[in-house]
Amino acid sequence: MPEPHTRSYYAATVNVATDYPELSGSERCDVAIIGGGFSGVATALSLAERGYDVVVIEQNKIGWGATGRNGGQLINGVAGAKRIRRRNGESVEDLLWEMGWQGHQIIEERVEKYGIQCDLKYGYLEVAIKPRHMRAIEEDLEYYQRRGIGDDVRLVSRNELPDIIGTDTYLGGLINNKNGHLHPLNLCIGEAQAAAELGVRFYEGTEVLDIHYGDKPVVRTATGNVESNTVVVAGNAYHHLDPQRFSGLIFPAGSFIIATEPLTEAEVAEINPLDLAVCDLNNVLDYFRLSADKRMIFGGRCNYSGRVPNSIKKSMLPRLLKIYPQLASKRIDYSWGGNMGVVINRVPLIRRWEKNVFSAMGYSGHGVNMTHLAGDILADAIAGSFERLDVFDRIEHFRVPFGRWFGNQVVALGMLYYRMKDLL
Ligand SMILES: Cc1cc2nc3c(=O)[nH]c(=O)nc-3n(C[C@H](O)[C@H](O)[C@H](O)COP(=O)(O)OP(=O)(O)OC[C@H]3O[C@@H](n4cnc5c(N)ncnc54)[C@H](O)[C@@H]3O)c2cc1C
Repeated sequence: MPEPHTRSYYAATVNVATDYPELSGSERCDVAIIGGGFSGVATALSLAERGYDVVVIEQNKIGWGATGRNGGQLINGVAGAKRIRRRNGESVEDLLWEMGWQGHQIIEERVEKYGIQCDLKYGYLEVAIKPRHMRAIEEDLEYYQRRGIGDDVRLVSRNELPDIIGTDTYLGGLINNKNGHLHPLNLCIGEAQAAAELGVRFYEGTEVLDIHYGDKPVVRTATGNVESNTVVVAGNAYHHLDPQRFSGLIFPAGSFIIATEPLTEAEVAEINPLDLAVCDLNNVLDYFRLSADKRMIFGGRCNYSGRVPNSIKKSMLPRLLKIYPQLASKRIDYSWGGNMGVVINRVPLIRRWEKNVFSAMGYSGHGVNMTHLAGDILADAIAGSFERLDVFDRIEHFRVPFGRWFGNQVVALGMLYYRMKDLL
């Protein structure tokens, strides 16, 4: 049975509730996209803007997966950049830098062009918990200066931080005014509306059951099928299609968020007067920001068991209060979690599997910008231009044998290693 949106702050504050029909009968199109999250919807809009006839099939609601549940932090960079550099050589450096901002540009343009109300704001602060994080921040600063955006970033000392984020938890940080935050579900729904106006046909409550490969691949659902020239698989951590091809490559990792009642003006002035999105530099990190109506949206924790904690609130609240004991009396209005798609080497599966079958998924927790980049890369590739796709397609991926359960244990062990590193 199709599921409604999880009971998040985002679902409670959508500009419009989508109500696309279930697929019924046979359809034909240029490109059939499986999955109605950022990857699927951003790709559909990029293709529709280039004149393609597109169908998007979503098993639940548009933005139901990680897209409608995430921290809303818009952060530059390309997931898996280290590995990409190693495989493609230093010549890819400029392209990586450019690609690291292309998702932002696409989002900005769409918000402007289609009038999407998604609370897009600029200002992002990465904070250091360990001295080595401070060294990493200083290296980032140097890199940004070399790249010519020194005016948009600012190193923040330990002494300054309490005035900026109302806590003395951190050793220092880096403000980056080109990154920011937004309401992800409203962005995704707004993009879907824009795509629908350009002719994209959306189906909700329609699970794709399988893909028949061939010159004209067909995706089949319980109530119909879509024949196309090209298929894009964008089901991320929530899809189970074609296990021979996809299993062992991408694993679901749970992350959890709580949202308080709106803070008072005085509290906002104390804890986040610049309205920054904040993220620490641990491998298993905490991230937080204020919503448009000034709730503290606080996320973190990560598990690979597929289990949701008995109480997300009980699991997350102590972490919030460690940083902000002054919020102890605040009511928690929402708590939710979601699965992100993690790839072992962190390089997203932006790939061409057959001449006419592509995928866009597995951003390892760094997907708000990357999904939009992926959509643009796939639209280019479908139109015959492969330069950016090849950068990802060249990467070899390790496939964990013995199915998803075993794979998750392997990834969990890997994460345990990183968690231990965080503790040291
Ligand atoms: C709690 C949380 C916090 C996060 N915070 C951030 C953040 O602050 N910043 C950031 O950059 N990234 C963040 N991420 C990661 C980011 O949300 C994701 O990388 C991004 O949303 C992935 O989008 P997607 O479209 O690929 O996947 P999803 O949004 O998961 O969409 C996949 C869709 O495919 C559908 N689907 C699957 N199988 C089928 C099928 N067989 N038939 C039809 N439909 C199917 C699903 O129902 C789902 O709607 C976070 C993730 C989580 C879970």
